[in-house]
Amino acid sequence: MNANILVIYTGGTIGMKEDPLDLTLKPFDFSQILEEVPELRKFKVQLDTYTFDPLIDSSDVEPGMWIRLAELIREKYPFYDGFVVLHGTDTMAYSASALSFMLEGLAKPVIFTGSQLPIGTPRTDGKENFVSAVEIAAAKNPVGGPMVPEVAVYFDSKLLRGCRAIKVSAEQFSAFRSPNCPPLAQAGILIRYDTDVIRRPMGDGVSIGVQTHLDTRVSILKVHPGITEQVMRAVLCGPETRAVIMETYGSGNAPSSPWFLDIVKEADHMGKILVNVTQCNEGSVNMDLYATGKALKKSGVVSGYDSTTEAMLAKLFVLMGKSDNNAWVKKVLEENMRGEISK
Ligand code: ASP
Repeated sequence: MNANILVIYTGGTIGMKEDPLDLTLKPFDFSQILEEVPELRKFKVQLDTYTFDPLIDSSDVEPGMWIRLAELIREKYPFYDGFVVLHGTDTMAYSASALSFMLEGLAKPVIFTGSQLPIGTPRTDGKENFVSAVEIAAAKNPVGGPMVPEVAVYFDSKLLRGCRAIKVSAEQFSAFRSPNCPPLAQAGILIRYDTDVIRRPMGDGVSIGVQTHLDTRVSILKVHPGITEQVMRAVLCGPETRAVIMETYGSGNAPSSPWFLDIVKEADHMGKILVNVTQCNEGSVNMDLYATGKALKKSGVVSGYDSTTEAMLAKLFVLMGKSDNNAWVKKVLEENMRGEISK
């Protein structure tokens, strides 16, 4: 496996090491990577590193950070076979979703990973995650192309599609899942790739486009018993809101009370983009199944099918950044752009 890989270290637990002097956790100097993770010497991989300054806890991630990351990948794209992004786990699913939609014409791997325990601690999960992410980023298919030309998350032996991943545990090493999409690969003695699930390259492998204009005027409404008219109206009809992700029950259902549907219609008449995703991790929105779902559809709500909220947020930021035409955005929202929905 001969490959050039760029490791982009953004921050997060993985990059922490205990300082022997004061025993506190401090960011680790990734320019010394081969000394710290000697296992990497076993691969025929040329590794370069790029460290964000300042390093960030991923709870501080903002769209501006995604733009920096996407632009860095665009600039370095011709010179590397793949990219490994070391990132905190808290918002990794959001960042992986964002990059999935922002990078256009991607034909090389962009593999996010991190860890639950710092790389310098004895039981760390960081080394395995990191070493396997590098191996995956460098892996070639039988005709010499990249094995995984996608944005993906590698964690605890599983490679997940970036725009399908969700963080499911604040404690277990197995912190991520992609409930509606099988893993792209599983690591055991060998790394087994599922070539039926992995998407085809989207571009020529020479250059990529980046959507850097993001429109972030999105609210997320989690429907719940006891939700009030005032709260609903504030979220759906607020002047600063262009789109609302409605997290509904089960297969896309919400209360059928007249006031609830009236506010949905009012927001639709105001020209807001309303999209329905389910609070369930598994399964999909189907607004034709129950009368309550049908009422939402008739009131102008579009289906997010089985998109995660993280993916829907990223998709809206990107599509709304591209166009002021809400009808176009609503149409494309229901299309499968990056493997984020099962259709
Ligand atoms: N708060 C940390 C972060 O997301 C947690 C982690 O890396 O696991 O940056």
